[in-house]
Amino acid sequence: MEQRSYVRLLPIVIALIAVAYKFLSTPSFVNPETGRKARVGLNPQQEQALGLQSYNQVLQEAGSNVVRSGPVVDQVTRVARRLAGAAAAHGQQQYNWRLSVVRSDQVNAFCLPGGEIVVYTAILPVTQHSAGLAVVMGHEMAHATSRHGAQRMFQQSIAQTLMTGAQFSLTNLDWNQQRAVMGALGAATQYGAILPFSREHESEADHVGLLYMARAGYDPQEAIKFWQRMEAQAGSGRQPAEFASDHPSHGHRIEQLKGWMPQALQEYEKAPEKVPASEALAPISGN
Ligand SMILES: [Zn+2]
Repeated sequence: MEQRSYVRLLPIVIALIAVAYKFLSTPSFVNPETGRKARVGLNPQQEQALGLQSYNQVLQEAGSNVVRSGPVVDQVTRVARRLAGAAAAHGQQQYNWRLSVVRSDQVNAFCLPGGEIVVYTAILPVTQHSAGLAVVMGHEMAHATSRHGAQRMFQQSIAQTLMTGAQFSLTNLDWNQQRAVMGALGAATQYGAILPFSREHESEADHVGLLYMARAGYDPQEAIKFWQRMEAQAGSGRQPAEFASDHPSHGHRIEQLKGWMPQALQEYEKAPEKVPASEALAPISGN
């Protein structure tokens, strides 16, 4: 009688060889600010192409909600310019920073891998002033310069290869069993690998963003005040803040920021020009 094993080994072995090959053939990126090393699944040209494509799509969808000009756009642009200067001062590759302000009730901002920044107007009341804005934008720009999008691409391609191997190794099981095992593996990948990586990225963006804002002449202590306001916003039961969604604990974030603060304050001391934190944002209406 034929003995059939429930799990076929060969597809897993092939998947592991493919993963080993990906590891060996994929370049690493060392973050010049933190020294953290990680594999990147996209080169800078691909990051730029992907970023620009997504940016155009976002702007097209936003349509008439894109705020074209006015005092808010001027202020956000000024903060972005200062931060871009601070990022460039430390040997980053060249970014074609682009920036749009979009009228929206989402408390959010993001920066695409090619350096395309989008700020939603609903985050402005939480930022309160240009230093608060520098916290948000420094963090987002740090995601781009730290190449987190390209790192996520690499992780996803590894996860995909392993899942495909697992799927082929389970073909002796009936369909319901396959579905149960694949569901459990998917959840394990999500909670065991993808989420911890995403928290690591959040933490690195906080660290690098703090250095950028300090170098650009914004008091880095404003970062702690900003996250306290975000916490209050989250606790108020109003619109949930998308900006913080990957990072469950504001308290942990604030503790980490305090740890990096001496380094950031040193950068702030050296900044050629200090921007007063009280430089308030212009009201959004009238644009
Ligand atoms: Zn982030």
